[in-house]
Amino acid sequence: MSQQRILVVEDEAEIAGYLRRGLSFEGYAVETAADGQAALIAARERPPDVIVLDVMLPKIDGFEVAKRIRTASDVPIIMLTARDAVPDRVQGLEVGADDYLVKPFAFEELLARVKAQLRRVHGRNTGNVLRYGPLQMDVSAHETTIGSRRVELTAKEYELLELFIRHPQQVLTRDIIYDRVWGYDFGGESNIIEVYVRYLRQKLESNSESRLIHTVRGVGYILREDQEHESS
Ligand code: CA
Repeated sequence: MSQQRILVVEDEAEIAGYLRRGLSFEGYAVETAADGQAALIAARERPPDVIVLDVMLPKIDGFEVAKRIRTASDVPIIMLTARDAVPDRVQGLEVGADDYLVKPFAFEELLARVKAQLRRVHGRNTGNVLRYGPLQMDVSAHETTIGSRRVELTAKEYELLELFIRHPQQVLTRDIIYDRVWGYDFGGESNIIEVYVRYLRQKLESNSESRLIHTVRGVGYILREDQEHESS
């Protein structure tokens, strides 16, 4: 399958970079545009599969960009609006946006919207079960099992475990985990990842199961079946 293309239109370099890193990591080909003019040119010359479009842009604002793109294309448009700006959402949908997301948002939220738009366009099956070793996550039903045992997770625990199971046997750095599960504006206590990994381990190992989430000292964590070195 060829790589799906996403055009990110955002003038704030930090957010644009955050989205580009996250979406590239997920396997999408990402192009960024920092103003409305550049966005219109990019959308015309290198048609994307989805456009993520910030409302607040220099030169031509996001509403106008969406309106002009709509005259020529049915590409899904997800608008990023300011916090609680209800008129923005209404106006966004009126000019032809397919969905909107209120800033600030966690990356997983945006990713879910992007996937939903791609599914809508391509008519894909939404059923999706992720497996690694004895671990199984039914993404549609939001159900997690280890072996035959059902595990109840909170929303954040689920997001964190889903990040691991989508990237098994790959070291996830603390920065990536922060970005992906807590969002770019997260300014909370620095040990939040450790705390949530501990919660997950407690739940996944409560029946003496082998450890799956391993610490990579000084770097981050990895989901790996590693029975030879198991000591817990
Ligand atoms: Ca902006």
